[in-house]
Amino acid sequence: MLRRPVPRHQRPGVAAERGVRPWAGSWLLWALLLIALVGSRALGAARDTARPAPAEPSHLRVHFIDVGQGDATLLETPNGKRLLIDAGPPEEADRLLAYLRAQGVSRLDAVLISHPHADHIGGLLAVLTAIPAAVVYDPGIPHATTTYRRLLEWIDRHDLPYRLARRGTALALDPAVSMTFLHPAGEPEGDVNDASAVLSVRFQQVSLLFTGDIGADVEAQLLARGEPLASDVLKVAHHGSRTSSSAAFLAAVSPRYAVIFAGARNPYGHPHPEVLARLQRAGARVFVTARDGTLLLESDGRRLSLTPARTAPATASARR
Ligand SMILES: [Zn+2]
Repeated sequence: MLRRPVPRHQRPGVAAERGVRPWAGSWLLWALLLIALVGSRALGAARDTARPAPAEPSHLRVHFIDVGQGDATLLETPNGKRLLIDAGPPEEADRLLAYLRAQGVSRLDAVLISHPHADHIGGLLAVLTAIPAAVVYDPGIPHATTTYRRLLEWIDRHDLPYRLARRGTALALDPAVSMTFLHPAGEPEGDVNDASAVLSVRFQQVSLLFTGDIGADVEAQLLARGEPLASDVLKVAHHGSRTSSSAAFLAAVSPRYAVIFAGARNPYGHPHPEVLARLQRAGARVFVTARDGTLLLESDGRRLSLTPARTAPATASARR
């Protein structure tokens, strides 16, 4: 079941999933559950202290997993920690699980929900049921859909530590890799896509930017706030929709590689040709999962390679 992007004029709280009612239409329930999750789990955040630096840092590996029209990224740090960012649409959950198992993933050290649309969280309950996770980061966007409610209830029922993704918060996973949220800056309100968690990942001289499904308005906010946007690799926002990836934003990020999650023959026409042109003008080499399948990034902290996972990795590219 593909969910259509929520129109910008649509107010939060309106159930966007076709055929799915907001849970009893009650925002109070959602708010209480979120408060309960944050209140009972947020205390754990203070215990995120830096671990000793590794003697011999190895490689960073990032799998941009082809899940059709949706996002799913597995990030493996040099010290063997694993972060899953989004989990694709529900109909691709089996394929995602099979990929994770093929990679030997028996535990996730952290899971990040970029935002609660079904093409990002649809497969997450299946993943969490099959593979234990240590903590979930979530921007905590009011979004009354059955999919999200069930997910939050499952997290609560299983006492899974739950932390809010907020600007300035670090996702402490591995001292070798710095991960910081650049957005949302405060309590999310308004458009769900625009409240997506934006995560900056830095490993020595290599940097990645994950943008969820933010639109051009948020890109402008990030620019205005002077956030450190320059990154070697950009997870392109919103599947390459023309409503994101403004020329000014791409100029600031200046990515060498751009990854677009999009399904073959998706009904939205993603990625839009204008975005592909803007990315090319920005100097990025563009990969699209619909065409290239799952992509694998490998880096030693100085050089990086990004190649379709079904082919042998090419020679590591020189860094800029
Ligand atoms: Zn999406």
